[in-house]
Amino acid sequence: MIFSKSYCPHSTRVKELFSSLGVECNVLELDQVDDGAKIQEVLSEITNQKTVPNVFVNKVHVGGCDQTFQAYQSGLLQKLLEEESAYDYDLIIVGGGSGGLSCAKEAAILGKKVMVLDFVVPSPQGTSWGLGGTCVNVGCIPKKLMHQAALLGQALCDSRKFGWEYDQQVKHNWETMTKAIQNHISSLNWGYRLSLREKAVAYVNSYGEFVEHHKIKATNKKGQETYYTAAQFVIATGERPRYLGIQGDKEYCITSDDLFSLPYCPGKTLVVGASYVALECAGFLAGFGLDVTVMVRSILLRGFDQEMAEKVGSYMEQHGVKFLRKFIPVMIQQLEKGSPGKLKVLAKSTEGTETIEGVYNTVLLAIGRDSCTRKIGLEKIGVKINEKSGKIPVNDVEQTSVPYVYAVGDILEGRPELTPVAIQSGKLLARRLFGASLEKIYHTLFWPLEWTVAGRENNTCYAKIICNKLDHDRVIGFHILGPNAGEVTQGFAAAMKCGLTKQLLDDTIGIHPTCGEVFTTLEITKSSGLDITQKGC
Ligand code: FAD
Ligand code: NAP
Repeated sequence: MIFSKSYCPHSTRVKELFSSLGVECNVLELDQVDDGAKIQEVLSEITNQKTVPNVFVNKVHVGGCDQTFQAYQSGLLQKLLEEESAYDYDLIIVGGGSGGLSCAKEAAILGKKVMVLDFVVPSPQGTSWGLGGTCVNVGCIPKKLMHQAALLGQALCDSRKFGWEYDQQVKHNWETMTKAIQNHISSLNWGYRLSLREKAVAYVNSYGEFVEHHKIKATNKKGQETYYTAAQFVIATGERPRYLGIQGDKEYCITSDDLFSLPYCPGKTLVVGASYVALECAGFLAGFGLDVTVMVRSILLRGFDQEMAEKVGSYMEQHGVKFLRKFIPVMIQQLEKGSPGKLKVLAKSTEGTETIEGVYNTVLLAIGRDSCTRKIGLEKIGVKINEKSGKIPVNDVEQTSVPYVYAVGDILEGRPELTPVAIQSGKLLARRLFGASLEKIYHTLFWPLEWTVAGRENNTCYAKIICNKLDHDRVIGFHILGPNAGEVTQGFAAAMKCGLTKQLLDDTIGIHPTCGEVFTTLEITKSSGLDITQKGC
């Protein structure tokens, strides 16, 4: 399908290309139809491309003239032309973390046949975990729970000032805490599996690697290989902790991937690094009463306001964390095996020739994270990465250099590495890919007040509006099932005549308690699939 303009030389080149390939195309000359400008506006909304030609091959958006010729030169165009929709899936997502799962669920809600491949390569210390990615297993969730454990210790100290008297010596038990946190994480892993199953998303616990266009190899932990094809792919493989590349680091050091399920208390700990992960972990470890030192290569919290960063540092110092500034480790040696054992760390100054030695039970590396993009066959299908950082550059609609491959989450170049960002972009990507509808439906069930005391049924009355996304969410459809439906509709009909929009409805103060007020608080879109049943009046 070519959206073209009859006088445009680039459109002519593209039409000639398809004709030379013997492909019959649907061509719409936007300058020769009445609603050409409107169609171009819609195309721009869907594809983020304002210009013509705008080319689609078998439902995949290829792009403009240059992208079509690039796809031709790489062989992708021929592949797209051949394969119609003979794929196993509409969408395969590689990586079941924050971004991948939200994209998978949204695409399934939008009626697509979706598969998620998720596989955790064990850390050098042998740690691995279940479905859900970094945030749930080795990031935000266990981090915050350990932080909470440390805060409880602080509250215990504070409690004496508030009159609490107790004689027993209070101490922290690492194993009890870790077991409780890991139990909670297991329940979250299970919840994710269940929610994929409920939405009919196929979940395969295998490592994904592209082998050719539209085809991926999935290898499970027994080494069995299965091949799957899809019309479109989303890469959401996230990042893993970096190592120092010095003698002894992979053998003896741990990272945040290991810490949250460490089966023993880490004891005296050296934390290497001075950003988020390093300072958060150092903070809660010190909160448990452990001897903690942070080795800082340059400054604390690079990228943050340095006055604030230094205040964080001095607060931590007052609360027992030691800082070794302007040093980097050069060698880690094991002095004693054990749980924990004993490690000797040799470090050198970044400013001179000075070297120092220290003995610790645990060395925790928190020196940044590397994108998991180098061992997934991207070179086989031509997805470009930033060779230095391993990150994937994408356009405004998260499309990589290969038109049918998209990417979300931590692996994106120049985007914040945060869970809510990954979740939101995964969801929005699915909506852009599969929810090209120009209408947005908001709806809810409701329970009229006069029905409550009478004990009449809840979740029977229903309100729904349909908005035109291309016209400032103007309300173009209005439905109500409930008492006084005629009266309510009459009022809103006049408002619709005056150009009522969703925003105007949201800005309207409801009259309480009425049935009509429900239209001033509509939040849930139908495409979100969120529950609209009411729990009370
Ligand atoms: P991930 O969640 O990492 O998911 C990627 C998944 O893909 C993983 O399961 C991985 O095993 C899998 N995978 C990789 N390669 C393949 C393959 N080839 N085949 C199949 N599967 C594969 N963010 C916040 O917003 N707040 C916080 O408080 C916070 N705290 C954090 C604390 C720590 C210690 C860390 C490390 C991170 C923290 N983050 C926090 C960041 C947050 O965890 C990430 O931004 C988020 O998890 C990124 O989601 P993602 O989908 O890009 O990747
Ligand atoms: P990071 O932000 O990349 O910081 C790396 C730290 O390690 C820096 O202090 C850096 O020092 C130091 N470092 C790098 N290489 C080193 C080396 N060879 N020797 C010694 N020190 C070295 O990495 P991160 O702390 O692992 O965080 C990763 C991402 O996770 C962040 O971008 C963040 O978005 C996300 N995260 C978010 C939260 C949250 O929202 N609360 C929590 C944790 C993580 P220099 O300054 O000298 O380079």
